Amino acid sequence: MTANFAASRVAFDLPEGVIYLDGNSLGPLPRAAVARVQRTLREEWGDMLITAWNRAGWMEMPRRLGDRIGRLIGAGPGTVVLGDTLSIKVYQALASALEARPDRRVILSDTGNFPSDLYMAEGLVRTLGRGYALRTVAPEAVEAAITPEVAVLMLTEVDYRTGRRHDMARLTAKAHAVGALTVWDLAHSAGALPVDLAGTGTDFAVGCTYKYLNAGPGGPAFIYIAPRHADLVRPALSGWLGHEAPFAFDLDYRPGAGIERMRVGTPPVVQMTMLEAALDIWDEVDLDDLRARSIELSELFIAEVEKQAPQVTIASPRDPQIRGSQVSLKFEHGYAAMQALIARGVIGDFRAPDLIRFGFTPLYTTDADVAGAVRILGDVMKTRAWDDPAYRRRSAVT
Ligand SMILES: *Cc1c(COP(=O)(O)O)cnc(C)c1O
Repeated sequence: MTANFAASRVAFDLPEGVIYLDGNSLGPLPRAAVARVQRTLREEWGDMLITAWNRAGWMEMPRRLGDRIGRLIGAGPGTVVLGDTLSIKVYQALASALEARPDRRVILSDTGNFPSDLYMAEGLVRTLGRGYALRTVAPEAVEAAITPEVAVLMLTEVDYRTGRRHDMARLTAKAHAVGALTVWDLAHSAGALPVDLAGTGTDFAVGCTYKYLNAGPGGPAFIYIAPRHADLVRPALSGWLGHEAPFAFDLDYRPGAGIERMRVGTPPVVQMTMLEAALDIWDEVDLDDLRARSIELSELFIAEVEKQAPQVTIASPRDPQIRGSQVSLKFEHGYAAMQALIARGVIGDFRAPDLIRFGFTPLYTTDADVAGAVRILGDVMKTRAWDDPAYRRRSAVT
């Protein structure tokens, strides 16, 4: 028996007639967020004006909410802080990790990583010069490529395209055995499955809050540093709010205590208010229950797709233990097929060249959603409803 998620489902404002299977890309609106944001605008910004930084606790939000995210990713209090976007947090973690291994020059990543993570690494390598290099190998080849040359192993645990999951504990142990540090991206892990940062001994981790955590578009990212490193690393983006004493306005930079040094500038208060409303829901969730339910949903989806939509291929791992909380299907006309699904109220998304993705988010996804989505998918395939010029016109966001 797995936990009943009926209570969390009603905490979300899901549009009538829509089956939403894209919470892996943008989580839905928590009902409470609307009133919460209004209060922040009206009673805090409106009435308190600048005094709200103190009186409404705005300045501590990045740390306070970081602690609440910490519970979801196996990180202790005071090890996680929020701010900026995930790409920025990747850069910060990677720069600090490289600086902590000054005798080495290689960043190891894989071709399944999200492009922005690789782009940020490329940019950092260019800035550093001095022989730094980004080496990318196929996901299956990562373990063998962890050699004593590697300064930092930088991976995303769950592949955004296929949902394939790396073994974080095993790869972290291998990296440590050769003297490398690890940066794990939890974009498709936080709120999708249990993560044990402290237990796996990972050095740095980053992730975003607008996917499974439901903080809304543009929600701030988070960064974790293992306590053994937190007071030693030097931030590459040394902004005033990561300073030891921002309001001393000293002319020289001194890093703040521990994870505080990864703050950069003014926190996005309204976005963090939305995250706070979402975390009220998360505070009640047992991650093992969530994972069990996520596997039930994705297994049901796969079984039904095999029965009802033989035209598509399952592109995600069949073993749920090495799959995140999404299932991807391969179909030559994937983009058009997804547009046809969206027109019929089933929202997933498309990743080039030919994958359609469906996220399973137990907080609000039900068996009936899965059954309904596959029935419509089967119909779109059987009737070739995707074969319509209107569905081939690409939007900017896919
Ligand atoms: C979603 C995602 C990003 C997006 O980065 P932003 O800076 O928040 O736009 C980066 N990396 C990974 C692995 C992602 O899944």
